[in-house]
Amino acid sequence: MRKPFIAGNWKMNTSHQAAKSLASGLVDQIGNVTTVDMAVCPPFVYLQLVAKALGSSNIAFGAQDVYFERNGAFTGEISAEMLKDICCTYVIVGHSERRHVIGETDELINKKLSAAINGGLLPILCVGELHEEREAGKTDEVVVNQLKKGLAGICKERVQAVTIAYEPVWAIGTGKTATSDQAQEVHAMIRKLLAEMYDESIAQELRIQYGGSAKPSNTAELMACPDVDGLLVGGASLKVEDFSAMIKTVE
Ligand code: PEP
Repeated sequence: MRKPFIAGNWKMNTSHQAAKSLASGLVDQIGNVTTVDMAVCPPFVYLQLVAKALGSSNIAFGAQDVYFERNGAFTGEISAEMLKDICCTYVIVGHSERRHVIGETDELINKKLSAAINGGLLPILCVGELHEEREAGKTDEVVVNQLKKGLAGICKERVQAVTIAYEPVWAIGTGKTATSDQAQEVHAMIRKLLAEMYDESIAQELRIQYGGSAKPSNTAELMACPDVDGLLVGGASLKVEDFSAMIKTVE
């Protein structure tokens, strides 16, 4: 039985004060929930103040990116070891905005994923097709390629640290959610691929989140899909009421 996992990606949003009140508000509303794994991923500069605000609640925190080197002359980058040093649990790797806006390649994403696991973090590996790729009937091909390249060289023992997030790019931040049938179809395909790449027990164990305009009103329907094990939430994670409502729905 896979425990549901809901994570909030705050992206490049909030401020010192806003991050603090968002985290404190979530602690008040959902800090005691035990049946759902919960995490928030604030911008790097607010990680420690959010960690403090989350305190000993059941809400973990994660980073939105990581570099693959441990330390050294890599101006502007943050290593897995540094994130672990501040007690960070999760890290998002290969988010579509990093792939398509910043230009990250599958090879770079694979190095980051590997470094995150080696550094003791739990990476959330994001995959998903562009609108034109879906229209061209290439969804499975794109997602399979991203997963094979993203997980290259990651053995059975190490892959257990990973959560996969299926995020159709056309649904991110657009208000256009994938239907539950569309989500389930790709999630089932991903699980089948994991069984081929690893084995059936790994495929059954790994959690696959859906991401793309998830909000309180579509949480129940998406989470009712047998292969949707959680959500990666952007916009709705910036509002205490919305993110809390989603957690309570899943609880
Ligand atoms: C995301 O940033 O991963 C995301 C899914 O954003 P949104 O929920 O706003 O579509």
